[in-house]
Amino acid sequence: MAQAFDVVVIGSGPAGYIGAIRAAQLGLRTACVEEWANPAGEPALGGTCLNVGCIPSKALLESSEQYEHTLTGLAGHGIAVSGVTVDIGKMIARKEAIVSKMTKGIETLFRKNKITWLKGHGRFVGRGAGGWQVEVSGGAAEVVEAKAVVVATGSKARHLPGVPVDQKVVCDNVGALAFTEVPARLGVIGAGVIGLELGSVWRRLGSKVVVLEALPGFLAAADESVAKEAWRIFTKEQGLDIRLGVTIGKVEVTKKGVVVAYQQDGKDERLECDRLIVSVGRIPNTDGLGADAVGLKVDARGFIEVDDQCRTNLANVFAIGDVVRGPMLAHKGEEEGVMVAELIAGQKAHVNLETIPWVIYTSPEIAWVGRTEQQLKADDVPYRVGQFPFSINGRALGHGDTHGFVKMLAHSHTDEILGVHIINTHASELIAEAVVAMEFRAASEDIARIVHAHPSLSEVTHEAALAVSKRALNM
Ligand SMILES: Cc1cc2nc3c(=O)[nH]c(=O)nc-3n(C[C@H](O)[C@H](O)[C@H](O)COP(=O)(O)OP(=O)(O)OC[C@H]3O[C@@H](n4cnc5c(N)ncnc54)[C@H](O)[C@@H]3O)c2cc1C
Repeated sequence: MAQAFDVVVIGSGPAGYIGAIRAAQLGLRTACVEEWANPAGEPALGGTCLNVGCIPSKALLESSEQYEHTLTGLAGHGIAVSGVTVDIGKMIARKEAIVSKMTKGIETLFRKNKITWLKGHGRFVGRGAGGWQVEVSGGAAEVVEAKAVVVATGSKARHLPGVPVDQKVVCDNVGALAFTEVPARLGVIGAGVIGLELGSVWRRLGSKVVVLEALPGFLAAADESVAKEAWRIFTKEQGLDIRLGVTIGKVEVTKKGVVVAYQQDGKDERLECDRLIVSVGRIPNTDGLGADAVGLKVDARGFIEVDDQCRTNLANVFAIGDVVRGPMLAHKGEEEGVMVAELIAGQKAHVNLETIPWVIYTSPEIAWVGRTEQQLKADDVPYRVGQFPFSINGRALGHGDTHGFVKMLAHSHTDEILGVHIINTHASELIAEAVVAMEFRAASEDIARIVHAHPSLSEVTHEAALAVSKRALNM
């Protein structure tokens, strides 16, 4: 007889594994289907995020940051160092150890919560008396039955037509996180979050990096003043060569590396590099899911169609994370996982997509929540702006990193905070205060009247809130 579960989750990325844990916490008999194998060929949980995304990229960003800081950031503190070298093998091994610790951690959490890990590829095959039937193929194929199914199959890198990715010379995120040496000349196609983060890692380690971007503007999703400041820092201070408004032509792998033909301002150009990273977005994983077999609706771009509560067109089938609309961010998927588990258990639950924080882990980091100034203008929303720089904050001066500012946007009439935009080395941590404030629909005056520790970077958020009503104290 087929194994029967209350919930079968397909995919164990951050959306799926968190959804599975929450379902198990609520007393539901839960299984999670996962087909991922790590480079050693062993089955692994954690999806893109833990294996080839958030976690390994942040490990390498940190290592490369420490290397660059040792080379250039210590002299100002009166610390002289010489003979600094970098061992890429060790750096990559450290990253892999972190990945392994994290993915094994999920195995432990699955055991603790009595979640069955079904190893292999999951696909819908039909509906029986016990609910939805999901075939798991991998070892011995089996069909399991579930009262509810949560599709959390995530996404994969989009590749360019005619540009085969071999993960050695032409790479997507998978290969780019595993280089065994620093490429002297690195090309990156795409100046989005992933392209900028991976480009930063290898630039800091010594690559001459050229980023080719199709769009005419830089970081179009960010607030314009943040994008402008980031552009200045990345290009002028850090020497990242970003070329905008390009049309990629032929990409040719040669004996020496790669040659990318492209057009910019109507002129034919060529970029020769040793390695090329293609980071032109991600596409949802719905291939081989058996959507047709059960009539699961998938849109023209391959995303599973869902409502605000991640319900698909099929009864008791939910879809969450990168495989559905909304920002492709791990924490967005995690919260959707919690929400659908609670809904399946008969509780009330929701996720507020308006208060999802966005972070780009460059140096300085860029983080925001809510709407940008250009969106407020386009939507004709009356607003006031408060902006305060880190350059006159005592803690930032102590750190020796005074880049950036906090910019707060609040409604002109109600003072409700509509957006907060931060560019600073610690922006990923600082944004949390803004997220909480916006979830509670706080006004800028609320932040302005809250005590912030001194000296701390959070004082800049405090001052930005005060600046909304033109009463910043330290400027
Ligand atoms: C380089 C990089 C850096 C990133 N950094 C960040 C960051 O700092 N912060 C952030 O929030 N986001 C980041 N992201 C995005 C983040 O990784 C994704 O948003 C997140 O992983 C999506 O989670 P998910 O659970 O929806 O899908 P995934 O993590 O993609 O997991 C889906 C899982 O489903 C499995 N699967 C798919 N189909 C099947 C099937 N039919 N049967 C069985 N298993 C299946 C896959 O093997 C995979 O393990 C980054 C992404 C990349 C590539």
